[in-house]
Amino acid sequence: MKDAVILDSSGFYSGLAFSMKNFYTTKGVLKEISHIKLSKLALESLLEQGLIKVDEGKKEHFKKVIEVAKRSGDFKRLSKTDLSLLALALKLKDENFDSLIVSDDYSLCNVAKLLNLKVTTSVTRGITKVIRWIVYCKSCKKVFGEYDVKVCDVCGSPLARKPRGKLKKKAKVS
Ligand SMILES: [Zn+2]
Repeated sequence: MKDAVILDSSGFYSGLAFSMKNFYTTKGVLKEISHIKLSKLALESLLEQGLIKVDEGKKEHFKKVIEVAKRSGDFKRLSKTDLSLLALALKLKDENFDSLIVSDDYSLCNVAKLLNLKVTTSVTRGITKVIRWIVYCKSCKKVFGEYDVKVCDVCGSPLARKPRGKLKKKAKVS
């Protein structure tokens, strides 16, 4: 099985992308990092040499990612770029790559784990637990099923969220 390491923006900010290994990323990430002027030339050269491959998941991969992210309550916290990285990892896995996502985004890591994708963080400690969120009112304790509600309809207090409970534990991927 060939390795496919997939980088989000943090992989470019931390310099990992310039370590001359083979990486994958998506168009969305390139757009996000397009303002780093200094490394623009270096980036172009990596792309030209094929050391960074830009690819996208297919429709079916996006569908699966969105479905799982909605179920876990992470969907609202994922950007289009985050979704594209997860979809790409699924696609590469389908193509028999041993795909690993490098990302510091907590929601992205959480959904990756739910999709049985390997994930590691470039700087911070890897997450070991899969979390499902619960949205609740701090004042009257009403629990909300939807994640995009911001204010309690009973007492008007702002809502908070907390983990619903541990689902499964997985060894840290590093
Ligand atoms: Zn309330």
